[in-house]
Amino acid sequence: MAKPNLLIVGAGGVGQVTANKAVQFREDFGTITLTARTAPKLERIAADIQERWGQHGDAALLDTQPVNARDQQELAALIRARDIALVLNVAAPYCNATILDACIETGAAYLDTALAESEFTEDIKPPWYAYVEWPRRQRFAERKISALLGMGFDPGVVNIFCAYARKHLLDEIASIDIIDVNAGSHGRYFATNFDADVNLREIKEDVITWEDGAWKTIPRHSEWMDVSLPHVGTHRVYSMGHDELQSLAVNFPGTDRITFWMGFGDHYLKVFDVLDNLGLTSSMPVDVDGVKVAPNRLIKALLPDPASLAQGYTGKICIGVDIRGRKNGEPRRYFLWSNCDHEDNYREVGSQAISYSTGVPVITAARLVAAGKWNPQTMVHVEELDPDPFLAMMPEVGIDWQVEELPLNGGWPYPAEA
Ligand code: NDP
Repeated sequence: MAKPNLLIVGAGGVGQVTANKAVQFREDFGTITLTARTAPKLERIAADIQERWGQHGDAALLDTQPVNARDQQELAALIRARDIALVLNVAAPYCNATILDACIETGAAYLDTALAESEFTEDIKPPWYAYVEWPRRQRFAERKISALLGMGFDPGVVNIFCAYARKHLLDEIASIDIIDVNAGSHGRYFATNFDADVNLREIKEDVITWEDGAWKTIPRHSEWMDVSLPHVGTHRVYSMGHDELQSLAVNFPGTDRITFWMGFGDHYLKVFDVLDNLGLTSSMPVDVDGVKVAPNRLIKALLPDPASLAQGYTGKICIGVDIRGRKNGEPRRYFLWSNCDHEDNYREVGSQAISYSTGVPVITAARLVAAGKWNPQTMVHVEELDPDPFLAMMPEVGIDWQVEELPLNGGWPYPAEA
């Protein structure tokens, strides 16, 4: 079988990790091309990768070509010109619709890490996949093209943890609680770890969560708990709406509760509240001397580029799933998780751990697609695929994972590190 030529769309924090990992595992792929709109970003990443992974005198390890991914024709032309078989969408999620359409047009397989977003809209009703992704599923199925939705860490690996628990640990699943703690410190006054307008939007909106078999909306930051997780210690996490709930609610029918929790420090929430009270987190454009400006776009332009946080970032992240249910009629509870370390990730690929924990799963999945081990030939959420080959391969690509049975009761008894 010919090795697939890869196109990586997006050259931010996640794009940089994805490109590094693609080059590290280049034996599995044909050509590797990185694209985004801004040529100097692409050239900087390509030069860094050449130095990191190449030998003196090697041909270029990474091709680059600027493209506007929101222009379907321009993107489809690049896919054809380079005979691309697999497109890895790690660009801003405003690009999802045109990248999906370019894949349908050209027959290239598709993978992304985030739900499509539309600018200048707020408080979208669930299920969020019903607007851009699911309406295209039929066309992927008809043309037997694979599309893997939500293949970062969360969404992504956490969905695969759920699939693993269903396959190996539990006969019935009662609840899924996904928990994401970044105990790192980047030393900046205020910054987001990925695309600022997407990140601020998910923190700003009311929380849509799955309870008693139905969507429930609660005010943002109104539910929290203190958790003690491996290698990151004790943190307060807040219930939030998140991509993976939208597909897990469909693919894990009968589960009473599916929730997502993210850790925030007091300083972060205080600054966020000021921005929000001033109207600066809004996606809705306002008139500034005759020019329409979305306030969150202005904030994004002013905040540090997420990729620039990597140098000097210290500490670890822990992302996992607390999953409860029954096995052979007996109640059981498991925690499946991974840690990443900002400093280790920076040393390896020049990136912080949030980007790293997204790019590693992307390339793990790309290797499985390249090897024909994952070949759904339609649009799927990653929890619909066999979790075993993925979890067997992810440590080799760069992230280890663990599973441990926990006591049934008592909140969060996971012992904090001594
Ligand atoms: P960044 O904002 O750092 O990068 C976004 C990239 O998209 C930039 O390189 C930008 O480059 C490119 N881009 C934007 N618009 C276009 C366009 N029209 N055409 C081509 N390229 C475009 O974000 P991150 O790298 O931090 O995140 C990337 C994606 O990963 C996001 O969708 C984010 O939500 C997702 N993510 C998923 C996670 C998960 O666990 N599932 C975790 C973290 C992130 P340029 O401006 O030069 O075009």
